[in-house]
Amino acid sequence: MHDTLPLLNNGKFPRIYRGKVETLQINLGYLCNQACLHCHVNAGPTRKEQMTLDTIEEIVQLIDNVKPKMVDLTGGAPELNVHFKYLVTQITKRRISIIDRCNLTILSEPGQEDLTQFLSKHKVIVTASLPCYSEENVNSQRGDGVFERSIDGLRQLNGAGYGKGNPDLQLHLVYNPIGASLPPPQKTLEKEYKQHLSENYDVSFDSLLTITNMPIKRFGSTLISRGEFGSYLQLLESSYQEKNLASVMCKTLLSIDWEGYVYDCDFNQMLGLPFGDTEKKIHVRDLKMGELDGNPIAVRDHCFGCTAGNGSSCSGAMQ
Ligand code: SF4
Ligand code: SF4
Repeated sequence: MHDTLPLLNNGKFPRIYRGKVETLQINLGYLCNQACLHCHVNAGPTRKEQMTLDTIEEIVQLIDNVKPKMVDLTGGAPELNVHFKYLVTQITKRRISIIDRCNLTILSEPGQEDLTQFLSKHKVIVTASLPCYSEENVNSQRGDGVFERSIDGLRQLNGAGYGKGNPDLQLHLVYNPIGASLPPPQKTLEKEYKQHLSENYDVSFDSLLTITNMPIKRFGSTLISRGEFGSYLQLLESSYQEKNLASVMCKTLLSIDWEGYVYDCDFNQMLGLPFGDTEKKIHVRDLKMGELDGNPIAVRDHCFGCTAGNGSSCSGAMQ
């Protein structure tokens, strides 16, 4: 594996600027019970980075200042942060929607027995990765036994009322391609997923989000090892669709790392590209509200991953 990947900038990605912030995406740490091949965070069971309670309090202050519509909790497995429930409770009190980016297997980890009930009580939207509906493909990408445990997780969530069309108990699945290709059309794949999972496993979900793999971190290293890095970047760039530019998530989102530093998006966070295309990282406590609207966004070649084909964001395809 390559620890350091090239941060490429051919200068062809258009300049873009932030609009009004509607979503705060918070990375609670890199600890995860899985170590998936496509992980753009390099998360895993041996990672130690975890957001502290002090930083969480600073973020709650930021939430009060920004008043976002949505707070999106990610990791690693965000639920493994010991302050996860405290933060969810603080956000719920403010009547702001919450997404938990859940890997499904966390629901059957020791010590997480009450997690499903906690999520449903707080009406947390569960967005769960299931990169394929085939057992073989999921296990090859995410590890042996992950598919079966993911189905168990879906059953638990369905049992609590998730994934059955209730807007208070939303369950979305996330698909990403196994290899160096773009995702297929979201609606077509959603239909196939729903049919297959219902007929074979008797589980349901609300919608499928297709996400393009970013050529960074573990997935980028895998591409380099396979000699596919350059051709994948070329594919992303040649599949550029201008109409996707209006919907790239960085225009309405702020991403915060486990130490409380701010970035234009989760991918830039992983690349260490500071917020606002500046040299120096900015901490949430030093963020000036006036600096948000109209601020330039740090774009590099990986940004073509957001605009390629049907477009890709944390909410799935754009078209
Ligand atoms: S992709 Fe998700 S579940 Fe897999 S290692 Fe990364 S954070 Fe964990
Ligand atoms: S990678 Fe990040 S900064 Fe680049 S276009 Fe996508 S969301 Fe915006």
